[in-house]
Amino acid sequence: MATGARDWLERIRALPLPGKVRILNVCGGHERSITMAGLRGALPKNIELIPGPGCPVCVCPEEDVYQAIQLALNEKIILVAFGDMLRVPVNAPKKDPRSLEQAKAVGADIRPIASPTEAVRIARANPEQAVVFFAAGFETTTAPVAAMLAEGVPDNLFVLLSGRLTWPAVAMLLESETPGFDALVAPGHVSTIMGPEEWRFVVDQHGIPAAVAGFTPESLLAAFYSVLRQKLEGRLFLDNCYAEIARPGGNRTAQRQMEQTLEVTDANWRGVGVIPKSGFALNTEFAAHDAHRQFPSYADSARKRAGQMPPGCDCARVVLGKIYPNECILYGRACTPRTPIGPCMVSDEGACRIWWASGVRSPVTEETTA
Ligand code: SF4
Repeated sequence: MATGARDWLERIRALPLPGKVRILNVCGGHERSITMAGLRGALPKNIELIPGPGCPVCVCPEEDVYQAIQLALNEKIILVAFGDMLRVPVNAPKKDPRSLEQAKAVGADIRPIASPTEAVRIARANPEQAVVFFAAGFETTTAPVAAMLAEGVPDNLFVLLSGRLTWPAVAMLLESETPGFDALVAPGHVSTIMGPEEWRFVVDQHGIPAAVAGFTPESLLAAFYSVLRQKLEGRLFLDNCYAEIARPGGNRTAQRQMEQTLEVTDANWRGVGVIPKSGFALNTEFAAHDAHRQFPSYADSARKRAGQMPPGCDCARVVLGKIYPNECILYGRACTPRTPIGPCMVSDEGACRIWWASGVRSPVTEETTA
C-alpha cells in the first residue's frame, strides 16, 4: 500500500535532526504544491523549504522580453507567446509599452498560446505574414519547441528562443561560497525529459543529498524524508521519488529532437547574470527559423536599467533562494498580481505569485518578525 502524506509527515517528525536543514526546490510546480498544501507549516520548524530558480519567465532576460516587444511593435509580424509572458514588465521609458500586454493594447498583433502546435496553426492560417514564437522556458518547455522544429514548420514561422537548462543554475549556487541550502529536491518534469541522472552531480561532486520528486504532497514528503535521512545517516545517493514517470535516461526521443535542432550556449539569467552552458539556441541548420538571426536587433544598452530587474524588485534574490518572497519590501504593497513590478509576481511559477495566491498578503516587517 502506498505511503500517504500523513505517514510521511510522521516519519519526518520522528527523525532526530540535530539542527536546521534547508531544502531547496528548483521547480515552480514544486513550490506551488508545497505552498498550497501548507507543507511548510506542517513540517518541524527546523526544516526550511526554500524556493529556488524554478520559474523560467522570472529568469528570462529583460532584453529578450524587450526584443519581443519591439519586434511586435516595429515589424510586420504576429507575435505569439505563452500567456504568462504577456505581463512581464521591462524597463522601457514610462511613455513606451512596458510589456507585451501593453504593446498589444497599442495595436501590436500579439496572441497568447498554450502550445507550439498553436504557433504552427497560426503560421499556417496566415501564410503571408511572419509569425514569431517567443518561447521562454526550461527543458520541459523547450523540448516541445524542439519537437515542433524537428517535425517541420511553415517557412513563415520563426522562434525567438529563450530556453534554459536548470542544472547549471544549481551548479552555480553550489559552486558559490554561500549555496544557502543543505539538500536538494530535484524537479520531476525536467527529470522526465533529461533523466534523473542529470542531478547526480549534486551528490557526487558536492556531497549534498538529493531526491527527484513529483508534484503530490506524498511525493514531495517522500523526497524530503529521503534527503533528511540521507543527511542524518551520512549515506548520500540520488533518490528518485517520481520513478513511475521520471525513468532512467529520460525521454530519448525528446533528447534526440533537442540535439537535432538546438545547441547549448552560455546564457543570461535575469538578475543573476551569465551562467555557462545554461541556454538553448537554434542550431545553424535551423537558422532560417531563428528570429534572433532573421530580424533586426532592438538591443539598446543606453536604455535605463537595460537588462536589469525593475527598481526595488528583489526577484533576483528570490530566484536564488536568498530571501523568501515576502521579504521583498515591495511584496503586497506596490507589487501585487494586479500591479506586478517584477516577473516573480507575474508567472504562475513565480514564488511571489504563488505565495500571494496561497494567502500571504503582506511583507515581513520588523513588527511581524519581532
Ligand atoms: S514582490 Fe514583486 S518586486 Fe518584490 S521580488 Fe516579488 S515580484 Fe519582485
